[in-house]
Formats: sequence, C-alpha cells, structure tokens
Amino acid sequence: MKIEAYLSKVFRTIRRFKLVEPNDRIFVALSGGKDSASALFVLKKYIEENSVDCELKGFHINFGSPISNRVQEVVEKQAEMAETKLIVFPLKNIGVSLADVRKKTKRPLCSVCGVLKRYLMNKVPREMGATKVATGHHMDDFLVFFFKNVLGQNFFWISKFKPKLESQHPKMLCKIRPLFMVGGEENRLFCESLNVPFIEEDVCPYTYLNCRIDLKREKWYRIIRRIEEEHKNFRHQMMTSIIKMSEFFTTKNSLKECSICGEPTSQEICGFCKLFKLNKDKNVK
Ligand code: AMP
Ligand code: ZN
Repeated sequence: MKIEAYLSKVFRTIRRFKLVEPNDRIFVALSGGKDSASALFVLKKYIEENSVDCELKGFHINFGSPISNRVQEVVEKQAEMAETKLIVFPLKNIGVSLADVRKKTKRPLCSVCGVLKRYLMNKVPREMGATKVATGHHMDDFLVFFFKNVLGQNFFWISKFKPKLESQHPKMLCKIRPLFMVGGEENRLFCESLNVPFIEEDVCPYTYLNCRIDLKREKWYRIIRRIEEEHKNFRHQMMTSIIKMSEFFTTKNSLKECSICGEPTSQEICGFCKLFKLNKDKNVK
C-alpha cells in the first residue's frame, strides 16, 4: 500500500465529514496501539497541511495493570514524536482498580473496560476544554460490530456507525473516527512507515485476567479478511453502505444527567455508576 493512497483516503473522510474544524481542540484517545497512533499522526498531518487553526492533544488512560506503565511509555514516545502534548489519566485517580471490579461483578472484563473508557474518554477531555475526541476505531472494527449487532438483532447501534458522532447533550463530546475507511493492516503499515512505536494488537492489557471477548473479535477479523480475499473491495463497499444505513436508524436516546455523577446517560443512573456504585463512597466526581 502506498502511504499517499492511505493518507488521501483518510483525508477524504476528514474533509467529507468535517471531522476537523477551525477552533477545534481535539483530544486523540491513545491506547498505545497502531490504530490510535495512526489517528494521531494522520490528524496532525491533515491540520498542518491544511493550516487549520486547531489544537491537537493526546489522551491516555493508565489502567494500572502490570503492563500499563510499559504501555504508557510507548504512548509518551508517540506523543513526543508527533510533538503533541499528552494528558495521562491514571485509573487510580478515581479510586478504581479493574482487578477489584472483577471480584465484584460477573460482567466480562472487556465490557467493564469499555464502560470505563467511554466514560473517562468523554468526561476528562471535556473538563479540560476539548471540543472533540478522536479514536482509532477503524473499518474492521466497525464491520465486526456491524455483523455482531445484526446477528443479535440489535439495530439501534447502526445509527452510531459513522465517522462523526455529533454531541447529543451539552456534556457529551463529539466523537470522530478518522480511520473509518481504512483497515487495521493499513494502519500498521502507516505506523511502520513513520517508525512509530506501538504495542502489538493482540496484547490486551488484561490478557492476564483472561479477557475472552477480544479473542472473539479476532475471530471476526479473520472472517472479514477471508470474505475480502474472495470478494475484492468488500470492506470498502460495506462501509459505504453502512454509512448510508446509519441514516435510517436515528439516535433516539434523549440523554439526561446521571442522578449520581451528573454525566450524560440515557438512563437514571449511568453505566459507570451502576458498575462502580460499590465505590460510591470514593468520590467519582
Ligand atoms: P479498543 O476498545 O481497545 O479497541 O479501543 C478503541 C479506541 O479507544 C482506541 O482506538 C483508542 O482510541 C481508545 N483507547 C483504547 N484504550 C485507551 C486508553 N487506555 N487510553 C485512551 N484511549 C484508549
Ligand atoms: Zn453516573
């Protein structure tokens, strides 16, 4: 793959969906992996080449697992190479440890981790003045979500399958996914071409706690790769259709503020407080 072709594909998504606008303060959620690193470098390049008056920062949650400090070092290196400021948020700041949570809930750790990420990736950047949060979610991720949701007859989520999720509430940041039309392998090649260090994809920070959901995701990535081998351009065609389909499913949830922490939620109590209300005494505000 030519890097120019990769960049022009991503730039087209950024332009078409107005992912970057003047006066934006975009926080790129960095996991240490190749995908979010690609989002950081590609956004930086776009902003520079188009002289957009906008601020870019890295944001990383340190989950406090045995490998988290090593992951943080990689993220620090990525931000340094991109010459962007990095904000690191240690989970222990809110008195939460995933290992403790695991003892108290039967929910799979990946889903707990997802609740935490969604909550903190909105709350912390917003409180620091962000206008948008960018993630490294890419084409293969969305195809996996798409097939799993269709099989589970969970059509509501399709409304969220687009490169830009506008804010639905004053406390909800706009989410952007610049890598919507490129796959994981392309991101790997992009990072390699820039010599950007990254943590290997299948090293989930919680593998040591037997996180099984990620293995299921790997199976789906394989299935999608196989279809693409048989049917060239399958992924790209599917994504184009999915964006169109997302327009048929409106985001019908009217958000309100969680009665415990005040963060936006569609229910009385948000997903975070439901999970961590055990820790309610430890002020999460
Ligand atoms: P995942 O759910 O692990 O596939 O991650 C999806 C996206 O969430 C990544 O592409 C990142 O943008 C973001 N992300 C994942 N882990 C972290 C983290 N520890 N800190 C900040 N952002 C993260
Ligand atoms: Zn809450």
